[in-house]
Amino acid sequence: MRSVERRRKTVIGASESSDGDTGLPKYVYLFEEGNASMRDLLGGKGAGLAEMTRLGLPVPPGFTITTKACNAYSRSGRFPPGLWKQVEEGMASIEAKTGKVLGDPANPLLVSVRSGAKFSMPGMMDSILNLGLNDVTVHALAALTKDERFVWDAYRRLLAMFGRIVKNIDGNKFGAVLERYKEQTPGKKDTDLTTDMLREIVAEFRSLYRSEVGEDFPQSPKEQLREAIAAVFRSWNGKRAVDYRTFNKIPHDLGTAANVQAMVFGNMGDDSGTGVAFTRNPSTGAKELYGEYLPNAQGEDVVAGIRTPMKIVELKESHPDLYVEFARAADVLERHYRDLQDIEFTIERGKLWVLQTRSGKRSARAAVKVAVDMATEGIISKQEGVLRVEPIHVVHLLLPQFDDRAKAAARREGRYLAKGLNASPGAASGYAAFDPDEAETMGRDEKKPAILVRVETSPDDVHGILHSKGVLTARGGATSHAAVVTRGLGIPCVTGCESILVDYDAGEFRVGDKVIRRGDFVSIDGSTGEVFEGRIPTLEPDFRKETDLQTLLEWADGERVLEVWANADYPRDAERAREFGAQGIGLDRTEHMFMETDRLDVVHEMILAAPEYRRVAAEIRALRQEMVSAREDKKPALAKRLSLLEPVLENLSRRYLGSLEKLEGLQREDFLGILRVMQGLPVIIRLIDPPLHEFLPKYETLLVHVTKLTLARGDPDVLVRTARSEEDQAFLAEVRSAGGGDLARGIEVLLPKKQRLLEAVAASRESNPMLGLRGCRLGIMFPEITEMQVRAIFEAACRLTREGIDVKPEVMIPLAGHANELRILREALEAEAKKVMEREGVQVAYKFGTMIEIPRAALTADEIARHAEFFSFGTNDLTQTTFGYSRDDAEGKFLLDYVKQGILPFNPFQVLDREGVGQLMRVCVQRGRKVRKDLEVGICGEHGGDPESIEFCHELGLNYVSCSPFRVPVARLAAAHAKLRHEIERTEDR
Ligand code: ADP
Ligand code: MG
Ligand code: MG
Repeated sequence: MRSVERRRKTVIGASESSDGDTGLPKYVYLFEEGNASMRDLLGGKGAGLAEMTRLGLPVPPGFTITTKACNAYSRSGRFPPGLWKQVEEGMASIEAKTGKVLGDPANPLLVSVRSGAKFSMPGMMDSILNLGLNDVTVHALAALTKDERFVWDAYRRLLAMFGRIVKNIDGNKFGAVLERYKEQTPGKKDTDLTTDMLREIVAEFRSLYRSEVGEDFPQSPKEQLREAIAAVFRSWNGKRAVDYRTFNKIPHDLGTAANVQAMVFGNMGDDSGTGVAFTRNPSTGAKELYGEYLPNAQGEDVVAGIRTPMKIVELKESHPDLYVEFARAADVLERHYRDLQDIEFTIERGKLWVLQTRSGKRSARAAVKVAVDMATEGIISKQEGVLRVEPIHVVHLLLPQFDDRAKAAARREGRYLAKGLNASPGAASGYAAFDPDEAETMGRDEKKPAILVRVETSPDDVHGILHSKGVLTARGGATSHAAVVTRGLGIPCVTGCESILVDYDAGEFRVGDKVIRRGDFVSIDGSTGEVFEGRIPTLEPDFRKETDLQTLLEWADGERVLEVWANADYPRDAERAREFGAQGIGLDRTEHMFMETDRLDVVHEMILAAPEYRRVAAEIRALRQEMVSAREDKKPALAKRLSLLEPVLENLSRRYLGSLEKLEGLQREDFLGILRVMQGLPVIIRLIDPPLHEFLPKYETLLVHVTKLTLARGDPDVLVRTARSEEDQAFLAEVRSAGGGDLARGIEVLLPKKQRLLEAVAASRESNPMLGLRGCRLGIMFPEITEMQVRAIFEAACRLTREGIDVKPEVMIPLAGHANELRILREALEAEAKKVMEREGVQVAYKFGTMIEIPRAALTADEIARHAEFFSFGTNDLTQTTFGYSRDDAEGKFLLDYVKQGILPFNPFQVLDREGVGQLMRVCVQRGRKVRKDLEVGICGEHGGDPESIEFCHELGLNYVSCSPFRVPVARLAAAHAKLRHEIERTEDR
């Protein structure tokens, strides 16, 4: 047969685009006329069948009707002119090769009609097998095969498939009939049905068909064929297929191809069967045939789970010859396609037939292992290996997962509850919370991981989501609010878990007769959508053990141009970042160091004294100046005023400068830690950024506390009586401990303190803190604070240098908008740095630079670059200031709706907005580098860890991207992808 096909191929040629005889478009391609590159026209399945035919693999003969024919059908509702004639010619070709004829009462040909678009997608029509059987051919086939049982089995399958797929009869109705007969057999399996039973089933199916459709099952094989092909075409515009394409951004005008292929039969007894196998293990990536085989079965039986199939390796023992033959075919296919293949095959009376091949879907782990192994085996290049692994695979590999054994145990113990959509990957266990406030309170407590359970979520729930370990919703799909938000935050999530009934009032959810109450443990697997009762231990990812991933990332490092740095505030984060391969710290936020609880008192003291200190110091300066030129008679009054103020200043200075000094000591330790960890690599330290009042308690909380304390002065027990919420309890404890156990004393101690805080907070309140006194503005208004920070940095740097440790500190100013801001700060801070270095007798090489977070800074980058050796795009703020959104308000109130309605294509806080924010960045890089050629430019916003944004940074020619330590591996891969893809594009442009 093979030689026949070869000959035909040379006669017909592979690239005709019109039908020779008629000049009409060529709608039908014999398998030997197509090839793997023709996916657009022939669909994935058709192109695969053609390619396998060319390779000389045993493929039953057939042809593919093109996607163009489908599109023509969609437009007119009819087969386009010439199509049917070409189908008949195609049939003639199959008939010639098989020696059988469709509908021949002596030697009938049976075929399958199989749909197959360019991308495989759910919702497309199922394939129909055994077309060509009717009341006449069934007998002929029985005589020919001498296997009556097989023939009736095939006929009942055709009736059910045709009825369900072409005529939309509910498949359960056929299933019910079948079940009834299976029940009567001893083994209750389909293989136990006798020939007589199958004959009766056929009769019942036919009358079911008649009563559902209102006419008989078509006896004409051509009619069957025509209807099946039309049904494939119609399924392209079925609702499920359309929804799927819309969601996955697959164009609607691709159309699907239809394949018509001679049947081979796996249901002809025990030396027949059907199977599906991967050339490598799709879950671990191990190099072994992996799959299943079901003897005496047809088509979908393996996946449909009608009987338990055998493992493909078992075939090795039961049918060693077949196994070897299949293994050889699998190897040919994998080498030819140079990728892991997913293969369908059938064995008919001991002969192997290959029916489909495609690149196999694989787990993240398998993706990495297969890529590394194939490159090592020399099947693909290292670059290809790098490109084969998607950034999302790396994300998945580094997420916590359930311990497989623990999960299996939970299942055995009957703790499996339900399955929803795997909306955001990763596994989580925690206490069920049904209210976002409750989830927040729980989640703030390290020991109380929360799983937020909702019917669905809305922007009002975001604070609860933020503090949860996982989210479970009863409704909503892959683009629901919960799914979108959790994916963005990297929190595991299961949505659309329809079988759970959530009752907010009762604080519980039910699945069947099981009840999970508030505070009960639940476990969710966002990678699979499964939900369990109780706790399942998670395995924390361990990068050091991921040797394949490390190999792959080393190859990626060899390709990429962009460096990958990390955002880290603490030495332990910096350590992790280095472990993950970070080449520097792009953002060390010093204010986090202020927030540590043991420092908060010092910070409060500093902030409370600062404004007073500045006011009094200014007044004293003014008085002294006045003294110089004042008339003699005025001098005593001035002197008196001065002598009154000087002790005040002294006191304030003790509080303000004294607190700063204490902080300096603490910050020096912080910097020593991080610079030591990062020795040899740059560390960008950003000076204080948030408005000072962010370090103070909330105005509202203070107001409540002061009011309560005032009211309780006469009757301290009122505090005890009214303490209901956890917050009240915490406050009560605070008062008690302030009084050394005595409530009344506690009130007297605490009240004046809180009053002072309240006044200070009231005085520093801003109507728009995001745009208020923060960033470099703070350093200009309160230079003592930033000078203290710079001293701490350089003291640490000098000390380490003396120890022989190579340190590369870079001092970064936040939120500059005008070059003058930088000029002023730079002068003051460099003077401070110089003083320290002189005092310590050590020189440290450092850089001074700025964040770019304000459009004005980007636009005047040439001015700014005169005072900065480096730029770092703070794209969170830059996105806020460019759009004029405050992120929290926007994400909480309208931004997600904007995305849903298509007003914005995506959330610009997750994916960099290239047209707006990106344009500013481009201008900024150009203008900055014009003034300073070696200007170091990077990005430290969250976008620094987003693959698409990383690609854009590569295009802009940035020096590095900086992201959270956990994203570093992803960024290393994404940076390599950006570079390799651009190379490919460039060579394609040429
Ligand atoms: P899907 O796209 O859902 O995999 P397929 O077109 O591959 O659908 O067909 C469904 C099942 O029928 C598969 O198991 C396939 O191997 C089998 N099948 C399809 N065509 C034939 C044929 N000509 N002979 C035997 N089995 C077939
Ligand atoms: Mg298939
Ligand atoms: Mg910022």
